[in-house]
Amino acid sequence: MSERLRIGEGQVSGYLSISLGLISLGGVICFHFPEYFTTAEFRSLYPTEMLRWLLLLCLILAFGFALLSFLLGTSSKLAFTGVMITALAVVLGGHTVEIDEFEQSLYSISLDWLLIDIVVLSAIFVPIELFLPKRESQTKFHEEWRTDLVYFAISHLLVQLTAVIIKTPAEFIFRDWGLNDVQSVVSGWPFLIQVFVAILVADLCQYTIHRAFHRLPYLWRVHSVHHSIWAVDWIAGSRLHLVDILITRSLSYIPLYALGFSMAAFYTYVAIVSIQAVAAHANTRLPFGYLKYLLVTPQYHHWHHTEDPKFYDRNFAIHLPLVDKLFGTYYLPGDQWPDSFGLATTQFPKGYLRQLVYPFFTDPTMDVAEPSRR
Ligand SMILES: [Zn+2]
Ligand SMILES: [Zn+2]
Repeated sequence: MSERLRIGEGQVSGYLSISLGLISLGGVICFHFPEYFTTAEFRSLYPTEMLRWLLLLCLILAFGFALLSFLLGTSSKLAFTGVMITALAVVLGGHTVEIDEFEQSLYSISLDWLLIDIVVLSAIFVPIELFLPKRESQTKFHEEWRTDLVYFAISHLLVQLTAVIIKTPAEFIFRDWGLNDVQSVVSGWPFLIQVFVAILVADLCQYTIHRAFHRLPYLWRVHSVHHSIWAVDWIAGSRLHLVDILITRSLSYIPLYALGFSMAAFYTYVAIVSIQAVAAHANTRLPFGYLKYLLVTPQYHHWHHTEDPKFYDRNFAIHLPLVDKLFGTYYLPGDQWPDSFGLATTQFPKGYLRQLVYPFFTDPTMDVAEPSRR
């Protein structure tokens, strides 16, 4: 049976009900335990009271889609699951949970960031991919969308945790480097300048690490999980091995800490990278005009995922094509897009956990006559 969603049989509404139910349940958990499940730096940026109304809307829609799924469906399993999850969110207090005084835990799970980002990004990218797709055949959810959703969730949940875990050794290592003068200059810059320079510095680091992931055999093993995507779209772009995430984040974050960027600029960069990385994978023909020469857009990053070996190892940057220009790896041929994506030469198992373990024991390109991309 195809894993693709079947339209008109209550499957889409069933999954929508479950997703909205889970989002609501997550929201209720955030209201009950903000010290462990929310991110202090993001909390000051979003209006909590407005989120209550958004939560109420999610609860109503979750029940509504469950009802629709019951009415349309040949099987009521999805709708029933949606109702149960949503009912649990209501029983636990729904949108009316009072927030008591609390003391922020040093380590927390960024559930608030995951919920807000999934709602915002789906609201932006689902309609864009539906109405302005680059590849029409790919407008429905691709076969491994549930696996990619797990990737999306895990990388978001770990945002605060990785930032804090990396910050401590970074501060320790750079304590005696005499960077105080540099730090006071950087932290004195206006906020927007700090954000722009942070993006440039992080992209230079990300570029170097990304090239190393393509060049060094053991790193390629884990990074090839990302290149196993054959249907590149906004949600598939999250398919990054945990080791890939941890190494890339560490080595991009450390210079930002060492150079003294403010935490506000740092977390703004974190929000921008997560949105731009998602946008760069979106399956959309949305025109970007001359902006496509300044910022990494879908056409630009899709060439990084091409299946054609002639164009491997191009476009490593995730923010600024300028970085690839500097190092001779820039490729953007007019209005042309690649024909196909993925690694013809490798076969990955399906599912998050299998893909997590696989590269530790098996070289994905081992049995291939012409292993490439290195
Ligand atoms: Zn790559
Ligand atoms: Zn990618």
